[in-house]
Amino acid sequence: MECDCGGVLEEGKSSYRSRGECFSLIIDDLPAYRCMRCGKVLYPEDTVDKIQRLVNRVNRDVKEITSGIPSANLYDYK
Ligand SMILES: [Zn+2]
Repeated sequence: MECDCGGVLEEGKSSYRSRGECFSLIIDDLPAYRCMRCGKVLYPEDTVDKIQRLVNRVNRDVKEITSGIPSANLYDYK
């Protein structure tokens, strides 16, 4: 794995923030890579996948809670 700028990536931890319509999600201590040249933080691809799934799930549940209307396929998660 290499940064776009060609810099060396240093393994470490980072926190990830995601904002939905009615919620904020913050994950601390996430394994991440930081570019030693430009300071950009990159996450491993499978981690990004998992976070995306988590965000989708939270989004769905939060919508159900805030609207009071159960979604049809609530447990139909991947
Ligand atoms: Zn870089």
